[in-house]
Amino acid sequence: MQVPFLDLKLQYKSIKEEVGIEIQKVLDNTAYILGKPVSDFENNFAEAHNVKHCVGTSSGTDGNHLVLWALGIKPGDEVIIPANTFIATAWGVTLCGAKPVLVDCHPDNYNLDPEKVEAAITLKTKAIVAVHLYGQPAEMNNLKEIAEKHNIVLIEDAAQAHLAEYNGKKVGGLSAASSFSFYPGKNLGAYGEAGAVLTNDDQLAQTIKMMREHGQSKKYYHDTFGHNYRMEGIQGAVLGVKLKYLDKWTDGRRRAASKYREFLGKVSDIKLPAEMPNVKHVYHLFVIQINGSDSAKRQERRDALQQFLNENGVSSGLHYAIPLHEQKCFEYLGYKKGDFPVTEQLAESGLSLPMYPELTDKQIGYVSDKVKDFFAK
Ligand SMILES: *Cc1c(COP(=O)(O)O)cnc(C)c1O
Repeated sequence: MQVPFLDLKLQYKSIKEEVGIEIQKVLDNTAYILGKPVSDFENNFAEAHNVKHCVGTSSGTDGNHLVLWALGIKPGDEVIIPANTFIATAWGVTLCGAKPVLVDCHPDNYNLDPEKVEAAITLKTKAIVAVHLYGQPAEMNNLKEIAEKHNIVLIEDAAQAHLAEYNGKKVGGLSAASSFSFYPGKNLGAYGEAGAVLTNDDQLAQTIKMMREHGQSKKYYHDTFGHNYRMEGIQGAVLGVKLKYLDKWTDGRRRAASKYREFLGKVSDIKLPAEMPNVKHVYHLFVIQINGSDSAKRQERRDALQQFLNENGVSSGLHYAIPLHEQKCFEYLGYKKGDFPVTEQLAESGLSLPMYPELTDKQIGYVSDKVKDFFAK
């Protein structure tokens, strides 16, 4: 049996006709950039997250930059981000000329550890970016309390967490502003590059809207700096169709996760991802960890498990193999191996199993059997 890590074709086939009609409409109207399909999608995406404003962007990375830029983050400022995240979280900070300050994740939910966040705050700290990594919301109440106490702004990178919930509330509106990615492999994926920013703040929404389009308040009136961070019409049309199915697809991911738990719950060699009691996890990724006290051995076993799965037709991933503080581009920040032990352990011993809504119980059973076979050897 073959189990890919992600299968985008299955989903495409299920909406091929509907999405084809909407793409054709964009072509017929020659509305290639922004336009009605984008604004309709913006309204619906905002509503789906119970947030007032949505601004469609050219990518999630651009959304990260827009939010911090519009908030006035500038050279000399420090912005706290997790060491355990995709690098695009950091680009939002560096593109503003500010310094990313890394903080380790919590061993339960793999998101920013609030205690360590507080310890990293200095007089230069201007913002905290909470990433809802793998689809599980960060501890927003604690982070909010810390941000308010120190008078700094809290924002969300929700690129992996469309429709996820924290204390019964959707992510995206749990902070000053949030960014989402619609990279094709994300829980809601476009047919190209796209992203969005959500905010309940009228003024901030207005600024972000201007900055997305060359800083203009109307055509050729540039009131502020900006860039070309617009969403394309075709992406808006595709996302508009796909948003209608997102609840169903999210249920599919959650079902797959609970099947994995059912099949793998008793395997003592691995740790399954925790789902915190106060959240709805949307399982962008299902990351297991290899247990064991020796770090080199853990990594060796993880790599051997990945290879064994591969040989048996199962693809898996590493999220993320090299933490931000060990990346060459961030050498100048002066961190060293050992600074973020929880993040480092995840990099050494984490393995992302196949995860997408259309995974069948049979496939999940097969993947789980192969994991068990490996440890029985
Ligand atoms: C995917 C991702 C991004 C970047 O989104 P793009 O649309 O690919 O630019 C940012 N942050 C996180 C955590 C992501 O997973």
